[in-house]
Amino acid sequence: MASPDGGNRRPRTSRRAARKATSRGPSAAPKEGRRKQPGKTAAVFLDRDGTLIEEVGYVNHPDRARLFPWAAKAVRKLNRAGLTVVVVTNQSGVARGYFSEALVRRVHRDIAREFRKAGARVAAFYYCPHHPASRIRKYRRDCRCRKPETGMIEAAAKKFGINVSDSYVVGDSYRDMQTGFNAGARTVMVLTGYGLGEYTYLRRTWPRRPDNVVRNLRDAVEIILKNRRAGRRRPAALPSK
Ligand SMILES: [Mg+2]
Ligand SMILES: [Zn+2]
Repeated sequence: MASPDGGNRRPRTSRRAARKATSRGPSAAPKEGRRKQPGKTAAVFLDRDGTLIEEVGYVNHPDRARLFPWAAKAVRKLNRAGLTVVVVTNQSGVARGYFSEALVRRVHRDIAREFRKAGARVAAFYYCPHHPASRIRKYRRDCRCRKPETGMIEAAAKKFGINVSDSYVVGDSYRDMQTGFNAGARTVMVLTGYGLGEYTYLRRTWPRRPDNVVRNLRDAVEIILKNRRAGRRRPAALPSK
């Protein structure tokens, strides 16, 4: 399966600098609210580790990538509802020298193959291999793709014609939720992976709550589909805050 790291690597320093100033907090949300843009598709941006596959620290070998048993079916449901599914994952283990980009891509191919067998499809896997403190010069970058920055979402939105404000970010860490806030998407937190721990011990410190908090990806998909059905019944969805 395609692993467009395109968009992840182009250093767009000037835009990044401009973005830095505006990427914090709700002010980054698009002002036009949640209106549908004709001809554009809605997407679900899925975190990988702890959301699609078990959180094991770092997946430094293909054998360590274990899909949650409900993952393929959940993705297939999104596919059938006409949603574009995109994986967006920080893989700083590359920058830390723990494993190679080739390994990351291999894991994504494996996941794509498992999904294919189950009739599920991910449009693209985006990953950020960078870290600002990497000892490997190639990966030492204060990039725009590392979540909670929104570079991967923007690259996918451009490539697939996605209306981000009509889309969802699903992940097991608050950083994923911040990515969603920064991009102006809706947010669903799952309690698999780091989710339960973060939710239990850190939620009081969160400046903004996720739109939904659910047990796992299966429940996330249920809530997304329900949400969309409800949205269709109403003339216009209100911007959430
Ligand atoms: Mg995660
Ligand atoms: Zn990056």
